[in-house]
Amino acid sequence: MAESKPQPKVKKKAVPMPKQPPEVRRHNFNEVALGYTEEQALEEASRCLQCPKPQCVKGCPVEIDIPAFIKLLREGKYEEGIRKIKEKNSLPAICGRVCPQEEQCQKMCVLGKVGDPVSIGRLERFLADWERARGFTIPEKAPPTGKRVAVIGAGPAGLTVAADLAKLGHEVVIFEALHLPGGVLVYGIPEFRLPKSIVQAEVNYIKKLGVELKLGYLIGRTYTIPELLKERDFDAVFIGTGAGLPQFLGLPGENLGGIYSANEFLIRVNLMKAYAFPEYDTPIRIGRRVAVIGGGNVAMDAARSALRLGAEQVYIVYRRSREEMPARKEEIENAEEEGVIFKLLTNPTQFIGDEKGWVKQMECIRMGLGPPDETGRRRPVPIKGSEFLMDVDTVIIAIGRTPNPIIQRTTEGLAVTKWGTIVADENGKTSLEGVYAGGDIVTGEATVISAMGAGKRAARAIHEYLMSKK
Ligand code: FAD
Ligand code: SF4
Repeated sequence: MAESKPQPKVKKKAVPMPKQPPEVRRHNFNEVALGYTEEQALEEASRCLQCPKPQCVKGCPVEIDIPAFIKLLREGKYEEGIRKIKEKNSLPAICGRVCPQEEQCQKMCVLGKVGDPVSIGRLERFLADWERARGFTIPEKAPPTGKRVAVIGAGPAGLTVAADLAKLGHEVVIFEALHLPGGVLVYGIPEFRLPKSIVQAEVNYIKKLGVELKLGYLIGRTYTIPELLKERDFDAVFIGTGAGLPQFLGLPGENLGGIYSANEFLIRVNLMKAYAFPEYDTPIRIGRRVAVIGGGNVAMDAARSALRLGAEQVYIVYRRSREEMPARKEEIENAEEEGVIFKLLTNPTQFIGDEKGWVKQMECIRMGLGPPDETGRRRPVPIKGSEFLMDVDTVIIAIGRTPNPIIQRTTEGLAVTKWGTIVADENGKTSLEGVYAGGDIVTGEATVISAMGAGKRAARAIHEYLMSKK
């Protein structure tokens, strides 16, 4: 009998990510995850099997050649490794931090069947941070095509489409309503998960590609889309305006003082730097007891920000069980380690105010779980007579966001769904010639990488459209 070839031993456990200890980090806004050292990155990279048919790539929405960049990393060729990633992804330091890799590339990694999958996101972050520390190299661009593209919104979808089109030789101008570029990356995701200097550095890289950034331009008001195309000489437009309008519960007492939408709360904390008050003049009244309603990433970010602002007790109030929580597992664990208290299978029914009109209590009801609903998750069902009161000083509502309707209302002929999202095909083509859209404005709330994937596909389609135009 032929002897079987000895298999190389693979370490089942991933190299853990170094983090600030929970008792320290709950008092500061510095980044929680500290990133791999070079030794740790090399050790983790050595776990990759370099599969001939890599499943991980199938799980990556922008199809990064994952085994190739990991091979380059473990050979110490960091410059080539980051180039390999950047062939497909212009924002690796961001994706390495906030992408739900556990649901994408890492979920597909074969090592996940016998132990921990390769920590692809942490390795991506290592290379991106290595490059940022040394300064970016700007890739070669195609010669100018003489075509002009307007990109609306400087979130991950808009930044990606702009970078790809600039590399293809087109003149690109981004119009952004806020005073800072980055979209949710700057106004939503807190500093302790994604430092703003990293977003700024990646935006600077995109500017170095020749993209012009116009801040404080609300399209639909400053210019409309027909004006951009007919009067301002743009040959195509990409709409990447996201889903920034908060949803509310519609409960009695919801407009009492001390009740915020997660959007308003996080904008105050992140964009207007309320955490650095009085250095920055945005005050925020947080109180001792804070309840955050919702179970997604936005709810975790709001709860962890509230803790850092000095709240003594912070609750996540979620109507389903932990299993159905849409937030990243890692972020749920981080929140729990920091002391956030989870009140699961619980839903608010009304808010009660004091004589000055500030919220002081929240009436809640306990929930059971029925059969799955249209989302595939078990439907929460109120348990009659189980109402109880919770004392609260602040309530933050984080139950979802919808698109801002300004562009849809000012663009005749643009097809829109009943949820207010823009109708576009898989390449971002809308019902209007030369007008493309992608990211949350098309899908509704999704992820950074799905917005970037949409931006990439739209860039290819816009390029084809422009080159086919006489
Ligand atoms: P956005 O990021 O929303 O950017 C849209 C931009 O368009 C904004 O800058 C906006 O100001 C601008 N704009 C809007 N209207 C106009 C107009 N009329 N004219 C000019 N500019 C306009 N995803 C993950 O993958 N991982 C996470 O951990 C994660 N955490 C999140 C935490 C929070 C708090 C939030 C709110 C979202 C989170 N997400 C996360 C979701 C993710 O950030 C979004 O899916 C992603 O940012 C969508 O990108 P986008 O480019 O489509 O839109
Ligand atoms: Fe490496 Fe996992 Fe991808 Fe295989 S599936 S190439 S082990 S990262």
